[in-house]
Amino acid sequence: MRDVGVVIVAGGSGSRTGSSELKQFRWVAGKPALLHSVQAFMARPDVAVVVVVLPKAYAADPPPWLFQCDVDRLLVTVGGKERHDSVVSGLEDLPEDVDIAVVHDAARPLVTDATIERVIAAARAGQGAVAALPVVDTLKEVDADGRIVRTVDRTHLWRAQTPQAFPRRMLEEAHVAARRDGVGATDDAGLCERLGFPVVVVRGSERGLKITDADDFARADVLSQLTE
Ligand code: C5P
Repeated sequence: MRDVGVVIVAGGSGSRTGSSELKQFRWVAGKPALLHSVQAFMARPDVAVVVVVLPKAYAADPPPWLFQCDVDRLLVTVGGKERHDSVVSGLEDLPEDVDIAVVHDAARPLVTDATIERVIAAARAGQGAVAALPVVDTLKEVDADGRIVRTVDRTHLWRAQTPQAFPRRMLEEAHVAARRDGVGATDDAGLCERLGFPVVVVRGSERGLKITDADDFARADVLSQLTE
């Protein structure tokens, strides 16, 4: 049954990578970053539609390589000022009969099917789900001068990635409430958490690296060798 709708947010300007080309369009591990994610989700039979959210100029004239996928399941729409505006724009395009909404950053091109499966399975069970990894480094809280204030217990700390999956109505309600209350969050789970909805972490992958600065393209090329 095709009950999953995917919103891939690629509406950012990616200025921290220091390139005039959008980071989500730059090649990594053999193809444009965005295309990796589009194809990974389209490989799943339960995905009804993939909505790609692009900056306005690119939504009007998408790059031709984007259509190297099942175009019958592809929608392209215009992003907003902040990431959460882009997510809302994508959610508005999901067909009525989609029950599970997945949100994914185009800046994380190497998403694995195992991770996608885990977030969707948790969402089907009625919870929000975040791909994440446990923190392995020792964490230090510091003051403005770099002096350590304390060592933070990392036992219960995870690093959140995307994809994140939700019962569709939960995510829509969370975004409506966030807009009403004028709050933002760097991820969708945060907006659900603040309403008290159940949200869990599921195991993500080191391949879930978010491309942020110029060196991350080289890192992603290396991480693409990992199978999981
Ligand atoms: O800027 P950052 O790397 O945190 O963005 C995370 C993801 O959100 C990226 O894939 C980016 O393209 C997307 N984004 C968006 N619309 C914005 C800002 C960011 O779709 N206004």
